[in-house]
Amino acid sequence: MISFKDVNKIYQVGDQEVHALSQASFTLEKGKLTIILGPSGSGKSTLLNILGGMDRPTNGTIDFDGEQVAQLSDTGLTNYRRQKVGFVFQFYNLIPNLTALENVAIAAKLNGNDAQSESYLEQVGLRHRLNNFPNQLSGGEMQRVSIARALAKKPQLLLCDEPTGALDSKTSLKIMALLQQAAQNPNTSVVMVTHNPTFEQYGDQVIRLKDGVIDRIDDNHSPVKLEG
Ligand code: ADP
Ligand code: ADP
Repeated sequence: MISFKDVNKIYQVGDQEVHALSQASFTLEKGKLTIILGPSGSGKSTLLNILGGMDRPTNGTIDFDGEQVAQLSDTGLTNYRRQKVGFVFQFYNLIPNLTALENVAIAAKLNGNDAQSESYLEQVGLRHRLNNFPNQLSGGEMQRVSIARALAKKPQLLLCDEPTGALDSKTSLKIMALLQQAAQNPNTSVVMVTHNPTFEQYGDQVIRLKDGVIDRIDDNHSPVKLEG
């Protein structure tokens, strides 16, 4: 479980303070999909960067299964990022001169289980695309590879930054289905950041951000379930 308590992020821009995140408090549970919803400039990236250990809060408490993440040293934070967090990006970030299988194998190897790379690609429906390069894949297929790569790290926290932002609506729902499937793992908290309110119905929890403030948190007791 990951808990934020009164987390603030203040950027100093010249002599101005930008309150990118103010008094953010929430909990992410394992085995759940959380949607972080907000318009541009509401603090989504700031929150995601802090969650992923790419940035530190100005102050506040972050408890990750008892570990105090905001207190970690730089090395501690790098280890946190490497060992606990998987990332999925809007534009996939695949390595262009490696095949789908090789892209996943690199991540799996860092985690000591490259023998399973194929099975991660099978899980996302890409058994027939193992030896294709990214430029031979559709956007939806590239996103599937990037999800397989993230899952190959066996992350306790899967962070997805606008993962459907470059995809058509039908393909987006297939990707949403995979995120719901990933959230069935009882060791993984899945977080999806989006500005698109049509996705909120698929999350177990919806955190609404506005001007750096959490406007509302909704628990969705019966989210719409998608089929991959
Ligand atoms: P979103 O991802 O929802 O678009 P951001 O987290 O990127 O929102 O930005 C939240 C606020 O913080 C905005 O006002 C933005 O301009 C500001 N901000 C973000 N990063 C920085 C930075 N590195 N320096 C100064 N201001 C920043
Ligand atoms: P490594 O060099 O072992 O990949 P890093 O600390 O560079 O370790 O990255 C660990 C994870 O964090 C990787 O999955 C990477 O994609 C992600 N990552 C690193 N920097 C950023 C960033 N600025 N924004 C988003 N994700 C990042």
